[in-house]
Amino acid sequence: MSDILKKILNILTFTDLSIRKKFLLFSLGSLFWLIVISAIGLITMFDMSAKSKMIVDVIEPQEKTINIVLRKLRGASISAHKIALYKNMESVNNNYLNGKTRLEDSRSYLKILLTGGHINDYSRGTGQFYNEFIVVPIKDAEKRKFIEDVIVKADQLEEILTEMAEKRLSGTNVDVLIERLADYDLLTRDTVIVLNEYAISIGKELGTFTSIIKSRFNIAIVLISLAFGIAAILCGIFGMLISYALAKPIKAIIGQIKALSSGEIDLTKKLDVASKDEIGTLSNEFNKLMDTIEHVTSFKKIIEEDESIEDIYMRFGKIFIDDLDFGNCVIYEVSNSKNNMRIMYPPEAEGIELYCKRDVQLDCELCRVKRTGHMVSSEDYPNICKYYIDDVNNIHWCIPIMIGGNVGGVVQFVCGKRGVCDINDIRKKISRAKQYITDVQPVLEAKHLMKTLKESSFKDALTGLYNRRFLEESFENLVAGVLRRGTTLGLLMCDLDFFKQTNDVYGHDVGDMVLKEAASNMKKSVRASDLVIRFGGEEFLILLIDIKQGDSLGVAEKIRETIEESKVKIAGGFIQKTISIGACEFPADTQNFWEAIKFADVALYKAKEMGRNKVLKFTMDMWSEEKY
Ligand code: GH3
Ligand code: MG
Ligand code: MG
Repeated sequence: MSDILKKILNILTFTDLSIRKKFLLFSLGSLFWLIVISAIGLITMFDMSAKSKMIVDVIEPQEKTINIVLRKLRGASISAHKIALYKNMESVNNNYLNGKTRLEDSRSYLKILLTGGHINDYSRGTGQFYNEFIVVPIKDAEKRKFIEDVIVKADQLEEILTEMAEKRLSGTNVDVLIERLADYDLLTRDTVIVLNEYAISIGKELGTFTSIIKSRFNIAIVLISLAFGIAAILCGIFGMLISYALAKPIKAIIGQIKALSSGEIDLTKKLDVASKDEIGTLSNEFNKLMDTIEHVTSFKKIIEEDESIEDIYMRFGKIFIDDLDFGNCVIYEVSNSKNNMRIMYPPEAEGIELYCKRDVQLDCELCRVKRTGHMVSSEDYPNICKYYIDDVNNIHWCIPIMIGGNVGGVVQFVCGKRGVCDINDIRKKISRAKQYITDVQPVLEAKHLMKTLKESSFKDALTGLYNRRFLEESFENLVAGVLRRGTTLGLLMCDLDFFKQTNDVYGHDVGDMVLKEAASNMKKSVRASDLVIRFGGEEFLILLIDIKQGDSLGVAEKIRETIEESKVKIAGGFIQKTISIGACEFPADTQNFWEAIKFADVALYKAKEMGRNKVLKFTMDMWSEEKY
């Protein structure tokens, strides 16, 4: 229920509309009420004006005309009396003319009421001007009939008047004249009564119109006040709600920014986003920013706690793919000492030619990013890197990871050309990725330092090979891996023949040189994944990882031959040394790793015994000899 209410309130307060639309609607709402108020006012004004026009143009002229006619009839009546009663004959004639003109005037005025026209009222006696106005023809049939009757009556009055004047002039008896005068008066009275009634009805009509105007005016005042009141209340409510909806999240954002600048913020605390307008978008983006900061901060913390550099690269790659939503990402680690590059992410791509030619992995100087220390992208300059494989279909962005002032790694993002990928979106992601890279750099630097430190304690300084300490640290993982994969680990125990003599004859330094040369030859003779360990003074243990069972002897023979053929240059010539090797295979010969080393050593002893420069595979019968 409250949800529905909230939804209705959201619609009413335009919560989900953009700010521009909000104000537009608000203005339209205000305009609507303004129009309503104006419309009420205008309608009332038009109505009142129509009514006033009716009064001024129709009713008033009618009333005036009737009054003039009444006045004229009164005048005519006086003339009629004078005709009948005055003795002076000349006066009879004058009065007849006066009365007749007045009756004619009355008739013509009444006719104007029917036809419409101009009325010019002045005194027939004195010639004094009274009034001048226009009459609109009466339309109402009943009223017309009324006026027509009065015209007939005026005709009759004129007839009587004429008869009276003629009779008076012909000397007719006064009694007869008085009789006709009585008829005249009676007819005048009837006419006046009729006209008075007519005048009263017009007066009533006038009264009706006036009261209508008054009541319309009152209704208009009430309606305008009501509309104004509603408009004011609505404007107030909407204005408050909209301003509240705008100000609340902005205040919250300001609060968060203040907290952020003072470092007190809880990054997991989010803004409550209620609207879908620009403020809502702002809140959302702010929350995203908080997320990013939180993510980066926690990401930094997590990678600091990651055990190995490989783990960091894995996490790094996953962030780019899963969180930043890059379709393709490759992370290379640059080895400045080995002058090569290794794919660290995706881990399954190690050693594979992915987006760059394989040559780059073997010689990191070919990589433009490694050489320049700057981001290299084919977005603006297609074919910028000749070692990039698919310039036709894809765009690449390669960003350096700076470690200790050098390029220690390269992050490569690849996406389809315009139309396939949203380049603007990618650019935004690239800048976020750069932020991650900047954050991860010091951690990687520290991890690299740690790694170097650790490696140095595991490495022999003279030959650069792993030492026995390394073996003690890592054998458990090594053995577990071999057992898990169900493969074989070949163990070759190697010892230079008559090495003491070399030291004795040429000195210790030459002895060291021979040792270094032998170590390098041994490394070259095995796979990169195999381990060559300086086990003792001039004893080496080679671990052949995941070798095919029975192949150890072949590898050992290859090593023996390489050493035998190798010439170590010394002052005034060169020396050649030989080596004896004892081989053993784990877990075929024994399930115990240290015992396997022992077995290899036993085989080596046998090889020495059998004349040196030899390779011997351990067999159980060697072990059965009780002397070990
Ligand atoms: P064998 O054929 O029986 O192995 O004879 P060998 O003379 O090589 O005998 P052995 O293995 O006992 O000799 C090891 C010698 O290697 C002893 C030691 O002086 C020498 N040596 C051990 N470490 C070093 C080193 O780091 N540098 C040099 N120059 N010599 C070393
Ligand atoms: Mg030796
Ligand atoms: Mg030895």
